[in-house]
Amino acid sequence: MRRLLGLVLLAIVLAATALAQSSPEEKVPPGENDRSIAAVYSGVAERIVGAALVDDRASRRLEWLSDHIGNRLSGSPQLDLAIAWALREMERDGLENVHKEKAMVPCWVRGHESAELVSPTKRPLVMLGLGMSTGTPPEGITADVVVVRSFDELEAQGEKCKGKIVLYNAPFTSYGETVQYRVQGASRAAKLGAVAALVRSVTAVSLRSPHTGTLHYAEDQPRIPAAAITIEDAETLARLQARGERVRVTLKMEAKMLPDVESANVVAEVRGSERPDEIVLVGGHLDSWDVGTGSMDDGGGIAVSWEAVRLVKRLGLRPRRTLRVVLFTNEENGTRGALAYKDAHASELAKHVLAIESDSGVARPTGFGAGKAASPAARAAFKEIASLLRGLGADRIGEDGGGADIAPLMKEGVLGMELSADGSHYFDIHHTQADTFDKIDRTSLSMCSACMGVMAYIVADLPERVR
Ligand SMILES: [Zn+2]
Repeated sequence: MRRLLGLVLLAIVLAATALAQSSPEEKVPPGENDRSIAAVYSGVAERIVGAALVDDRASRRLEWLSDHIGNRLSGSPQLDLAIAWALREMERDGLENVHKEKAMVPCWVRGHESAELVSPTKRPLVMLGLGMSTGTPPEGITADVVVVRSFDELEAQGEKCKGKIVLYNAPFTSYGETVQYRVQGASRAAKLGAVAALVRSVTAVSLRSPHTGTLHYAEDQPRIPAAAITIEDAETLARLQARGERVRVTLKMEAKMLPDVESANVVAEVRGSERPDEIVLVGGHLDSWDVGTGSMDDGGGIAVSWEAVRLVKRLGLRPRRTLRVVLFTNEENGTRGALAYKDAHASELAKHVLAIESDSGVARPTGFGAGKAASPAARAAFKEIASLLRGLGADRIGEDGGGADIAPLMKEGVLGMELSADGSHYFDIHHTQADTFDKIDRTSLSMCSACMGVMAYIVADLPERVR
């Protein structure tokens, strides 16, 4: 295995060297001995990739988190357990400066909930309340339903929404576009007098599975309860309405907000040998929704970020700069962990060389997305490092990238990057009861660890800081 990998990597190095010579714009500033990054680091990249592929620590870790702790919503005892577990295990790994950093997080509790079609026929609807939603009165809300496919259609309904339950039956285009109905739908409907909102789950694929996720209430609108229903049920209600039938639904939700509670980001390092004050950060979020076991979102992300740093330690490598892994808290409903990290590290943000987030799944890695702020020189360096991952099919550097947890850092000028993985099935299970460990492919997970390890280690070790 290692020999084969060696041959592949040798070929990659030769190809990369040839490429650097043939196209000057691809060339990075000359480093020590005027040798390319790929040439200097091919050996160490091979060691990291090899170690990642033969060691199943990351997948065993994720399996344990999934099966023993399960889902981990902010404010839940499970998230506290996960934080304590991560601290313990990182100490056991021999990582350095293992500690937690306090963050106050919202505490939203789902409670019992249900939705039922009561006219023109009676049948339960499969639903999940949206995170941060308010509840209904104990007897529920029973009202006629207005089905719309877009905000334009909502506006066209105008006054007709008054006293009704608005259902957004928006087909999935992209997550970024379609998620607006989940995030803003309740307040946009409330503005027109609606008493509750239902949202077709934000996914292209459904086996009658509802997808939760957070909503944001506008300050100036009444807070109405909101829930996700399945594509199948949304389409049923749409067909009934299209036939001119009176569609009535009863929605019952006990959801409520409790006072903020204390949580924490988990931090560990391999300290730099020459410039320990300069930092390359890798991370994901330890919290999850309160459904499934949060194995993909974002158990996978924290597993590969953590493993990247552990492998560096285990191989006895010590980069020039500090390699830091951060397991952020509360990404799903508040990003308070991300904000707390930014505040706690305000004085050293200028020393953050790069922040890499993994929060797009851990299927087969395809490379990385580098934030728009990356300079041509930085992009060229990233491309050259990624060329060392060509054997894994992960040598692509996308035009854009980031993540919710590193977004506050990027806003302050820190270079941001995301691990990119095959996303063709990511949203099938996103924020559902089906986000469980069986969806994790162990080999792909190892490959993701390898990619994170190679990129983070080399950026942390380059003689010249990437800017
Ligand atoms: Zn996530």
